[in-house]
Amino acid sequence: MPSASPTPWPIRPGRSLKIGGLTPFSATDYPGQLAAVVFIQGCPWRCHYCHNPHLLERTAHSPLAWPDILAWLATRQGLLDAVVFSGGEALLDPVLPRAMTEARELGFKVGLHTGGAYPEALKGVLPYVDWVGLDIKTNFDDYATITQLPRSGEAAKRSLEILLQSGVSYECRTTVHPDLHSDDQLCNMADDLAKMGVACLILQRFRPEGCTNDSLSPFSTTSFPTPQTIEHLSGLFSHFAVR
Ligand code: SF4
Repeated sequence: MPSASPTPWPIRPGRSLKIGGLTPFSATDYPGQLAAVVFIQGCPWRCHYCHNPHLLERTAHSPLAWPDILAWLATRQGLLDAVVFSGGEALLDPVLPRAMTEARELGFKVGLHTGGAYPEALKGVLPYVDWVGLDIKTNFDDYATITQLPRSGEAAKRSLEILLQSGVSYECRTTVHPDLHSDDQLCNMADDLAKMGVACLILQRFRPEGCTNDSLSPFSTTSFPTPQTIEHLSGLFSHFAVR
């Protein structure tokens, strides 16, 4: 377990995580592990399909206190395998490395869900992380069509490079919607990821639960992407799945 605390952020004394929610038990947020999921407030992006719009702003008083969650986690030793820090964008929070260290000291593995908006922050926490779920929104050049923030793809690409270089276990995940992606776009994206050395890609078909964007059209979960696209993608990665 790492003992140093390399953090790219200044941390004010007494500062604590800003937490907007907690899932006490999940079998789907860290592959093969039973995990509690801690949802950190704040995100710099505004993805059209966001499922957690209530987490996008950091409020003055966050609904949950990390010390309370930590005390509860101490009662879950032997019952849970891992703590996953999700969001929002968890890397936005300056005390994330400290919280990860505290979770590890209780004997839990640490998972991280991130969109990769903060490459240097990702580099700073990787010593404390056992597994990363990295969202890949689309082609890196087209990121703003999803995130609504110019140049967001540059940060995501750099985060992926850092993650691949680190050797930390990971999964790349792409949420797809035919209003936001085309089959050609997904194939080009996957080709680029494979060239970068990505071995694991999961396609997640958009589900409307939690999304407040009514302009996204409903679509049949079997109609997009096409079987030809899925076949192309499945040949590129040693691990590929559609959820
Ligand atoms: S990066 Fe995640 S939390 Fe942030 S807006 Fe996009 S989907 Fe929502």
